Amino acid sequence: MNIRNPRTGQYDYTITPPSATAVAALAAQLRQEQQAWQQGGIEYRIAAMQQWKQVVVAHKSALVDALCTDTGRHWETVLEADLVATAIDRWCGIARDFCQPVPRKTASIPFLQLQQELVPYPLVSVISPWNFPLLLSLIDTIPALLAGSAVLVKPSEVTPRFIRVMAATIAEVPALHGIFRYIEGDGAVGAAMVATSDLVCFTGSTATGKKVYDAAAKAMIPVFLEMGGKDPAIVLEGADLDLATSSILWGGTANAGQSCLSIERIYVQDTIHDAFVQLLAQKAAQVRLNDGDIHNGQIGPLIFGRQAEIINDHLQDALSKGATLVYGDARCRTINGGSYCHPTILTHVHHGMKVMTEETFGPILPVMAFHAKEDAIALANGTRYGLSGAVFAADTATAMELAAQVEGGAISINDCALTAVMHEGEKNSFKLSGIGGTRMGPAAIKRFMRQKVFIIKEGDAPSPWWYDA
Ligand code: NAD
Repeated sequence: MNIRNPRTGQYDYTITPPSATAVAALAAQLRQEQQAWQQGGIEYRIAAMQQWKQVVVAHKSALVDALCTDTGRHWETVLEADLVATAIDRWCGIARDFCQPVPRKTASIPFLQLQQELVPYPLVSVISPWNFPLLLSLIDTIPALLAGSAVLVKPSEVTPRFIRVMAATIAEVPALHGIFRYIEGDGAVGAAMVATSDLVCFTGSTATGKKVYDAAAKAMIPVFLEMGGKDPAIVLEGADLDLATSSILWGGTANAGQSCLSIERIYVQDTIHDAFVQLLAQKAAQVRLNDGDIHNGQIGPLIFGRQAEIINDHLQDALSKGATLVYGDARCRTINGGSYCHPTILTHVHHGMKVMTEETFGPILPVMAFHAKEDAIALANGTRYGLSGAVFAADTATAMELAAQVEGGAISINDCALTAVMHEGEKNSFKLSGIGGTRMGPAAIKRFMRQKVFIIKEGDAPSPWWYDA
């Protein structure tokens, strides 16, 4: 399978996806080795993860190089690589607390005692997308490993170059090699994984998520789906416009808008709409493409070639229905074989346009005026998605009052897209953005364990509910 380079448009890398039979054989092997991993106990697992952290840090430059080629961007890649060590340390602390034995306790029936235990799912499959290849392949993997599961990870076929580096790091840690694997492959490999796992964590589009949900239902296994978004930002009169425009510009165009939690639509109170748009456009004009030099410029190429077609379709649809292009590109441009798009500001937009209701996944900032707060809430809730969002107001209390009514699992107050950097809060996705328990915060580790109780009868008295026989 030939893989496209997002900066050149050339197909310069090859992967050979395993067959479904090979995936099933690997799953069986991992499941077998998992028993020792589980029985080793939490301190054994923490020691192995700490050892792996050192190896990943030592391989950082090879990892960053591969990821830069995969994605065509540098700054976000370094951030992703740096977050690995922090995430391992944070999860080791949480897992140590969480996996402590719970003391046996007397039940409400006094001659019975209860002993609780946590039993990990033997094999967890992690299927991840191309927009943050490293971060999203590890976000569920690290707590699953610490919980005691074996983990099989398949990143997107669009960004597979970092997989071999990851495999090399795992091979250096004997305790991990038998229970933790990265594999290359496309949707067919993902489907084979679902068919042979005990639990699946999927991050990707809502369309694929539905297929994974279906397949998991057939296999009767739990599945956690983190899917698409169309995050709104609401800006109320009285908000600090300098702060709101800087934040929204970053929140909507970082990583060229290729983030599930990108701000994809902006609702601004009518009294401040024009001033907001003017300031946003001034600031957008300072943002540069990184087409010449990956280290210079904030906006990289579109990682997935076909994403440009979706962005062009949304722009064309909006412009043909009366939107005004205030700043940016009416369509993506091809430079040296890569597809790029400047931060692009649209006004005179409405919910009859795809750019306001469907996931664009590009650096497009459509701004719509509203009059009353209730209108802003109705508009913010007017899509099938409910991932996250942002509210800007003169004071926190007013922002919180609105935020409480926005359908989304994480609402940033007076900033945007804060779940990109802050993973400690617990959140669920609303509507078609996801299903299942929180992937962030301490509770995320619970997803990988089943609860088991031993109900112990002490003493030799007959139980009062027995037959008198
Ligand atoms: P995608 O759905 O095309 O692919 C995601 C993964 O699923 C890939 O690894 C792919 O190979 C695999 N896959 C494809 N078909 C499959 C099948 N039938 N069974 C099992 N696996 C299959 O998504 P994408 O284009 O790679 O990623 C972009 C999407 O991801 C956007 O919609 C974005 O919003 C979403 N996303 C969501 C979050 C979140 O936390 N909610 C985070 C990042 C990205």
